Amino acid sequence: MSKLASNLQIDSARLWSTIHDTAKFGATPKGGVRRLTLGPEDKLVRDWFRAACEAAGCEVQIDALGNMFALRRGRDMSKPPVGLGSHLDTQPTGGKFDGVLGTLAALEVLRTLNDASIETELPLCVANWTNEEGSRFAPAMMGSAAYVGDFTVEDILSRKDAAGISVAEALDSIGYRGDSAVGTQKFTSFIELHIEQGPILEAESKAIGVVDSGQGVLWYDGKITGFESHAGSTPMQLRRDALATLSEIVLAVERIAIELGPNAVGTVGEAVIAAPSRNVIPGEIAFTIDTRSADAAIMDALDQRIRAAAAEIATRRKVEVALDLLWRKPPTRFDPKLVDAVEIAAKELGYSNRRITSGAGHDACNLNTKMPVAMIFVPCKDGVSHNELEDATQPDCSAGANVLLHTVLALAGVAK
Ligand SMILES: [Zn+2]
Repeated sequence: MSKLASNLQIDSARLWSTIHDTAKFGATPKGGVRRLTLGPEDKLVRDWFRAACEAAGCEVQIDALGNMFALRRGRDMSKPPVGLGSHLDTQPTGGKFDGVLGTLAALEVLRTLNDASIETELPLCVANWTNEEGSRFAPAMMGSAAYVGDFTVEDILSRKDAAGISVAEALDSIGYRGDSAVGTQKFTSFIELHIEQGPILEAESKAIGVVDSGQGVLWYDGKITGFESHAGSTPMQLRRDALATLSEIVLAVERIAIELGPNAVGTVGEAVIAAPSRNVIPGEIAFTIDTRSADAAIMDALDQRIRAAAAEIATRRKVEVALDLLWRKPPTRFDPKLVDAVEIAAKELGYSNRRITSGAGHDACNLNTKMPVAMIFVPCKDGVSHNELEDATQPDCSAGANVLLHTVLALAGVAK
């Protein structure tokens, strides 16, 4: 790589002002952003983003689900581009950085290359994925999920928000139902920069998280069937109490996740007593379990040990416990060569860094099933995200953007 390319840095002040200027699209009084997918504020930021990418010399394509792709030509146009980007939609009380950083830093990478008159060997393509957040329409990460074929386009277009408006109607209302077919924009590889949304990097004073994995998920629906009886006249040893049973299960899930940790979490997040009454021993309870790990063997162990614990508690208490596995998402292992490329870029730039697992889902996790993918994390204040208080520093955002720039240069190559 030429000396110019290897010493190149993004324009930190420009990136920072771009992040803050575009935060006006959906700005909240508390300093956050409310930019629900495919709403009027999303249209404003999309229009701004398209114009900015075109001003940077890109051709912008929009697919049938509103996913936006800005292509910067390379010397060798026979190969698919190296992809970079994230999402511009936010939670109802979201922050300025979740998704936004990765998309605007990708634009900053193109602007930096333009300023230095650097042509890459492979083309580059900046993506803005539709509805990452999932707060207006379900599922989350909708655009990238349909892109990889996890859902059909027709299915996604028919999904409705709480007001009964479909994705198709919302796309049409803001003029973003594009004409390219979903999935036709190919990538050689894809890199997503994102805030960590957790506390690890900040606690360890690391500037860069080299994301090598994402957690797998197990979701269960549980049902306990005991026996309703009088709270006054039923002796303790004769009871078949569904709520006391659930209490043991809650603590068992917590204990098992701790024992299999640190790479495991487990939560009983919902519990509903069928006919609650102050003077009736609960006879029936529905509950949920959410448990996660980035390690497939630990996921198997979580499944086996939670089931065994539930069975033991049920037998001992003479109640029935049914556990239905509702959803099993295997862990994400990002491409080792791409993860190495991110790590090398961070080291060469002199940034403190560590390998890290993504606790949250990202578009990159969806894309990983179809192409080599890696992610870059930067710290966020107190690990807070999905909150108007979400914050990140200018040096950390710039460090992430510089790692993105140099990872992309390593993957795309510099034309001679
Ligand atoms: Zn995000």
